[in-house]
Amino acid sequence: MKRMKVSQLLKETPGQEVIAKGWVRTKRGNKNVNFIALNDGSTIKNIQIVCETARFEEELLKQITTGCSLCVRGDLVESQGSGQAVEIQAKEIQIYGTADPETYPLQKKGHSMEFLREIAHLRPRTNTFGAVLRIRHAMAFAIHKFFNDKGFFYLHTPLITASDAEGAGAMFQVTTLNVENPPRNEDNSINYSEDFFGRHTSLTVSGQLEGEMGATALGEIYTFGPTFRAENSNTPRHLAEFWMVEPEMAFYEIEDNMDLAEEFIKYLVQYALDNCMDDLQFLNDMFDKELIERLRSVTSTEFVRLTYTEGVNILMESGAKFEYPVFWGADLQSEHERYLVEKHFGRPVILTDYPKDIKAFYMKQNEDGKTVRGMDVLFPKIGEIIGGSQREESMEKLQNRINELQMDPRGLEWYLDSRRFGTVPHSGFGLGFERLLLFVTGMANIRDVIPFPRTPKNAEF
Ligand code: ATP
Ligand code: MN
Repeated sequence: MKRMKVSQLLKETPGQEVIAKGWVRTKRGNKNVNFIALNDGSTIKNIQIVCETARFEEELLKQITTGCSLCVRGDLVESQGSGQAVEIQAKEIQIYGTADPETYPLQKKGHSMEFLREIAHLRPRTNTFGAVLRIRHAMAFAIHKFFNDKGFFYLHTPLITASDAEGAGAMFQVTTLNVENPPRNEDNSINYSEDFFGRHTSLTVSGQLEGEMGATALGEIYTFGPTFRAENSNTPRHLAEFWMVEPEMAFYEIEDNMDLAEEFIKYLVQYALDNCMDDLQFLNDMFDKELIERLRSVTSTEFVRLTYTEGVNILMESGAKFEYPVFWGADLQSEHERYLVEKHFGRPVILTDYPKDIKAFYMKQNEDGKTVRGMDVLFPKIGEIIGGSQREESMEKLQNRINELQMDPRGLEWYLDSRRFGTVPHSGFGLGFERLLLFVTGMANIRDVIPFPRTPKNAEF
């Protein structure tokens, strides 16, 4: 007989012999009968195992405590109690591994998120992280489905890069040089020609530049992979290692880009509502009573679209007190973005046409000479969830901007070839996967939507 997952067992008709395997969530009962809630990760729900104590060795039953792992053979029967349709009348129980109640860290329920971060290697065993990780999987799957159904191609961009021109954040170096005694040039600078790649390399902060090479050949592509930023921002919205989804599309102007971003996020949220309701309901009940309501509202409202300049005017006229000052030219902080979304409009906002000085060199320059065709999608509780733009397709304008910013064009020649040969209007954006998950799960801290968070001073497990 084959083992059945709990998700399946709960749908089966009673009156058959089954095998269930999993970890004990709780055990309760009296001297005649024990009730074990068994979970195997396939669903937030447990299967109830009923053991008549007379049928089993006392020693065995004593060893069954929260956290231990079991194989149970028994009859699937209609449940006597409330809360579940079926349960298993145990006939045979095998313990795979015990979990000493004195030392098992998840012996009790109701641990704080902070405590669970300290045992990040065990927290997937909790209901909360089980729910978050299943939703994380579903969203990853939905991302591929969305783009595949639209004819986009999944492009694998490199994680190790020689260009430090992406400008999206501080980078982690990649080297095989002896860091204690690296080879030196005559001027005492480090001689990277002896390094593995014969040059200075880093972990990527974005796959965009390479993504543009894909888009200007395959038409529509997306990347979905890890990115690394050594920025020392200890916030609930920043990780040093996070996953980013970056679609890049030939022949898209900024409006097409906004349409795609809005359709994309709505699709993902709707996918979660359609496929993850058990987990969402749990998170809704435990952490955030407005979660499901908020998800539904996003799928049914049109996002507000306005320019950065209009947004800044609203903020300046609002009379609200902000920690960081607002003025035209300021890089908007999360508090400003959330004010627009939560207080002023009450729905997601797409801001466009940012001052060129606070945006990257590759964004398409507007006629006014001051702004670029960037777009940020701003969400309740989070602020920026997507950053994107129409890209500058003019070789001349792009080169002027590179000179203006005193960037070294040598490392960028490969990128400029996409403008040099057969350039086309094109656009793209980056969705922070964990920011999306913050929104979909209602979790408050980005460290709680990734299995093993990497943040400043934290890479233990
Ligand atoms: P922020 O201003 O919030 O730091 P950013 O403008 O630096 O973000 P982009 O370079 O535009 O971010 O990256 C695209 C998307 O990647 C962002 O909209 C966000 O969703 C996500 N993102 C950026 N930095 C991080 C980070 N350190 N951790 C998690 N997600 C991030
Ligand atoms: Mn951004």
